[in-house]
Amino acid sequence: MDLNFNREEEEFRQKVRRFLEENMPKSGLVGTGREGREDKAWLEKSKAWQRKLHEAGYVALAWPKEYGGQAMDPVRQTIVNDEMVRANAPYLAGGSGLGMLGPTLISWGTEEQKKRYLPKILTAEEIWCQGYSEPGSGSDLASLRTRAEIVGDEFVVNGQKVWTSGAQYADMMFCLVRTDPEAPKHRGISYILIDMHTPGITVRPLVQMTGDRGFNEVFFDNVRVPRKNLVGKLNEGWIVANATLFHERNMLGSATGSAQRFNRLLAIAKKIKRGGRALTEDPVFRQRLADLEIRVEAMRYHSLRQLTDQIRGKNPGVEGWINKLVGTELNHDLATAAMEAMGDYSMLSRDDGAALDHGYWPYEWMFSLGLVIGGGTSHIQKNIIAERGLKMPKSR
Ligand SMILES: Cc1cc2nc3c(=O)[nH]c(=O)nc-3n(C[C@H](O)[C@H](O)[C@H](O)COP(=O)(O)OP(=O)(O)OC[C@H]3O[C@@H](n4cnc5c(N)ncnc54)[C@H](O)[C@@H]3O)c2cc1C
Repeated sequence: MDLNFNREEEEFRQKVRRFLEENMPKSGLVGTGREGREDKAWLEKSKAWQRKLHEAGYVALAWPKEYGGQAMDPVRQTIVNDEMVRANAPYLAGGSGLGMLGPTLISWGTEEQKKRYLPKILTAEEIWCQGYSEPGSGSDLASLRTRAEIVGDEFVVNGQKVWTSGAQYADMMFCLVRTDPEAPKHRGISYILIDMHTPGITVRPLVQMTGDRGFNEVFFDNVRVPRKNLVGKLNEGWIVANATLFHERNMLGSATGSAQRFNRLLAIAKKIKRGGRALTEDPVFRQRLADLEIRVEAMRYHSLRQLTDQIRGKNPGVEGWINKLVGTELNHDLATAAMEAMGDYSMLSRDDGAALDHGYWPYEWMFSLGLVIGGGTSHIQKNIIAERGLKMPKSR
């Protein structure tokens, strides 16, 4: 088994690295890119950054050529993703379209939908949000109640979504609605595309514990959506919804991202002293670092295994859920270790001049906790892995 990238791939990596060094925005977009998302100036800068990446050929490399992709093998996309994380490149405003809706439409969309939506996802001309969760329907997503009635050539949508990330600036939403209230709960759901500028939509930002306004409540009051915006078959949206969830889970855990965080943790542990010596010399903390590094390394091999499966065209299975479960928990554990290492200094945020490591860790600790929940909580991932991966009896 050869776990190395070949010569052409390494040359490609160097090219991407140089591009990022020369072109990455130097100001106005923070590295993690998670802050200030309610700010219009941030949005415009983030869109411009995505356009630049797209023009250079570094966005959605594996998408088919007829929809603006390059039909490349998944290795190139992985290399670009890794280099973006390594360079601490800003988050892309069009991330939900690129990572979730785009791949779903490629498999499930009509030709008209693919031609209409995919090119504008690539150029960040249209920003998407995900309208799945509702009050009372998170883990039990299939219990959702937002209703869409068919009237002539349109759906008329009424109801409420919640925790909708980026809805405050999104142009479009991929949304789950109940189209047959009489059917068993997984059956009467449809997957539709809603223009967020349609009359009857109200978006109310929610403030997260990080202080960001990352997600929102979205209310629908007789919102009219053309029938041609249905993806997949009427009342059979659950299967399309799961395709999107798979892509989302894959997006949320990045082995390179965890390795970056580990290195950052190591760097502060070398500087912080306990009992007259650096934390890296403290036997108890060393044990903890070793445990975390083993998990980071295991995730690296796991992601290589997933990549191999993708190259071989094997259907993505339980590995995606493992990626989400282990990757997001690992990131939170890395942040927890850093917070404990910093002791009282862990209280100081980015605005405080005395904060260690520029106040990165308190923010990261709170944000990474959100990702353990978003995209399906750890408990739910464990249930799925047990039932579908290990074929254990269903939980009640
Ligand atoms: C940062 C962030 C961003 C998000 N962005 C979006 C978005 O853009 N669009 C969107 O639609 N949603 C979004 N969400 C919502 C997310 O999908 C839900 O929060 C998640 O699915 C959990 O649902 P819930 O919050 O209703 O919790 P609940 O389902 O009420 O769960 C509460 C607790 O009970 C546990 N639990 C529930 N059922 C079971 C079970 N069967 N077995 C074991 N334990 C169980 C859960 O693990 C959890 O600990 C986001 C959430 C976060 C945190």
